[in-house]
Amino acid sequence: MGKVAVAFAAAAVVAACSVAAVMVRRRVKSRRKWRSVVEILKELEEGCDTPVGRLRQVVDAMAVEMHAGLASEGGSKLKMLLTFVHELPKGTEKGTYYALHLGGTYFRILRVYLGGERSYLDVQDVERHPIPSHLMNSTSEVLFNFLAFSLERFIEKEGDGSSSQGVKRELAFTFSFPVKHSSISSGVLIKWTKGFEISEMVGRDIAECLQVALNTRGLDMHVAALVNDTVGALSLGYYHDPDTVVAVVFGTGSNACYLERTDAIIKSQGLLTTSGSMVVNMEWGNFWSSHLPRTSYDIDLDAESSNSNDMGFEKMIAGMYLGDIVRRVILRMSQESDIFGPSSSLLSEPYVLRTNLVSAMHEDDTPELQEVARILKDLGVSEVPLKVRKLVVKVCDVVTRRAGRLAAAGIAGILKKIGRDGSGGITSGRSRSETQMQRRTVVAVEGGLYMNYTMFREYMEEALVEILGEEVSQYVVVKAMEDGSSIGSALLVASSQ
Ligand code: ADP
Ligand code: MG
Repeated sequence: MGKVAVAFAAAAVVAACSVAAVMVRRRVKSRRKWRSVVEILKELEEGCDTPVGRLRQVVDAMAVEMHAGLASEGGSKLKMLLTFVHELPKGTEKGTYYALHLGGTYFRILRVYLGGERSYLDVQDVERHPIPSHLMNSTSEVLFNFLAFSLERFIEKEGDGSSSQGVKRELAFTFSFPVKHSSISSGVLIKWTKGFEISEMVGRDIAECLQVALNTRGLDMHVAALVNDTVGALSLGYYHDPDTVVAVVFGTGSNACYLERTDAIIKSQGLLTTSGSMVVNMEWGNFWSSHLPRTSYDIDLDAESSNSNDMGFEKMIAGMYLGDIVRRVILRMSQESDIFGPSSSLLSEPYVLRTNLVSAMHEDDTPELQEVARILKDLGVSEVPLKVRKLVVKVCDVVTRRAGRLAAAGIAGILKKIGRDGSGGITSGRSRSETQMQRRTVVAVEGGLYMNYTMFREYMEEALVEILGEEVSQYVVVKAMEDGSSIGSALLVASSQ
C-alpha cells in the first residue's frame, strides 16, 4: 500500500470514529434529555400525590373550615353563604317556569312544565350557548342587555302555546358566582370568579340588574329567585329523591352546597325557618389547607390568574384550570429538552389547552395515540414519537387523578360535617353504627367536567369509597344531574310560589 493510500485509510478510520463519537454523544445527550423529562414527570407525580392519609387530612380540614365559616362572618376562607332556601321542591309543584343560567362558560335558558307529580316534569325547551368572551369583561349593562335579549328571542320562539296571555312568566336566575343574599330573590355579587371581571357589578343586586334589563326590553317576566347553580342541582336532586342533602358542581368552576340545621349556623343567630334548616352555599372553590398537594405549576397558574391568592381549591379541581396545569407541565418539558421538537410558541399561551382536550388525550384508546398526536399538532407540536405521546397521557392522568381525589375529599368533608361519613358526627345516645350506617345520603353532582370526563368521575368515585370505606360508602349515592342547576332552579321558583 502506498503512503497516500495509508493516509486515506487512516483518515477514513478517524472520520468513522468521529462520526461514531458524535452519534454516541447524541445518544447520550438525547438519553440525558429523556431522563430530564422523566424527572419532571416524577417530580409532578410526587407533588400531586394523594394517598388516602393525606385525603383524610383534607377531609378534616374541610369539616373544620365549614364549622369556622358558620361560626362567624369571615371566620374561614369558606364563606358558607346563606341562601334563604329552606324548603326544597317536593314533587307536587305545578305550572310552567323558566330558568336563565349564567355559568362560567355557557349560558342556558330553559322552560319546564310541572304536572303536580314527581314523574311529571317536562323540560320543554333547552338552549345552551357559549358566553361570548367579550362579555366577561364588558359592563353590567352590556351583560344584562345580552341576557335579556337572549330571553326575548327564546320567548318569541314559543308562540302562544306555553304561557297563557297576560300571565307573568316566573323566572329563576341561576347565577354561578358568589352572592350575599338578603332573600331568595335578591342578593349582591361578592366577587367574580372564573375569569369574569366587571368590577362595577361587585356589590350590586344581581336579580335587580336582570329585572331592570327585562323591563327595559318590555318583557313580562319576573325574576322570582336568584339561585346558585349548586342550589339548583340540590333542588332537582331533592325533587327526585328526598335523601339528597348535598350538591356539587364540577364545571368551569367548582362549588358545593348542602342542607344545614339553622341552629348550626351560629353566625346568624335567631335565624328561623319553618323546616329548621337552610341550604348553605359553601363557595368551596376558595377552600384552602396546607394539606393540599400544591406544585410549582399551581403556584404559577395562580400568580398569573386574574384572581391570584383566591379560589385555590377550584384551581386544582375545576375544568377551567386542569388543562392549563397540563399545559404548564408540557411547556416545561419542551423547554428542558427537545423531545417535543422545536419549541412551539402556542404552548406558551395561557388556557390554550382546554380541559376537554385533556380528556380527549387521556381517553385516547387508539394504539398509536392518534388523538394525542392530533391535539399536540394543533398546539404546534408535530411529529411527536409514541413514547412522548404516552408521557403526555401520563401527565393528563396525574393532574386529573389529583383533581378527582381532592374532589372526593371535599365531598367526604361535607359528609363528615353533617355526620354522614360514619365517623360519628351526631350520635345522640344511639350507637354510632346505628345512626351512621342506616342513613342513605344522596350527593347530586353536575357540571361539564363531571359529566363528560369519565376518568375524572372514576377517580373521584374510587377515592370516595377509599376514604369512607366499603361499608359506609354503600349508603352514599352519587347521582348525576344533567342540567340540574337550571332545571332545579326553576323547580325552586315553583316551590316558593
Ligand atoms: P358552566 O361551567 O358554564 O356551567 P358546564 O357545567 O357545562 O358549564 O362546564 C363546562 C366546563 O366543563 C368546560 O369549561 C370544561 O372545563 C369542562 N368540560 C366540558 N366538556 C368536557 C370534556 N369532554 N372533558 C373534560 N372537561 C370538559
Ligand atoms: Mg355550571
